[in-house]
Amino acid sequence: MSAGRHSAVAVNEAWKEEVEQVHKLEIDWTRCDGHGLCATLLADELVLDEWGFPVLRGRPITPGELTNARRAVLACPALALRLTEQ
Ligand code: SF4
Repeated sequence: MSAGRHSAVAVNEAWKEEVEQVHKLEIDWTRCDGHGLCATLLADELVLDEWGFPVLRGRPITPGELTNARRAVLACPALALRLTEQ
């Protein structure tokens, strides 16, 4: 097997492991200021309550949502959003 094939197999294995992980979002309520940016990036997982604070639907993040979930975590100005693996 060539070196390129080895790295392609390694990337494929890493991707497969990540997809098989169950990811969930958590909010640190001591930090959240209700900016609402997270709901913009993850409209299917988060809605805002009447005061602008996010309400999680509580379901696992699908593999197709992982990129946006990571973007939302990075974009949260209060560092209140966390993506967990279970
Ligand atoms: S972006 Fe961060 S601070 Fe703003 S509502 Fe979402 S979790 Fe809270």
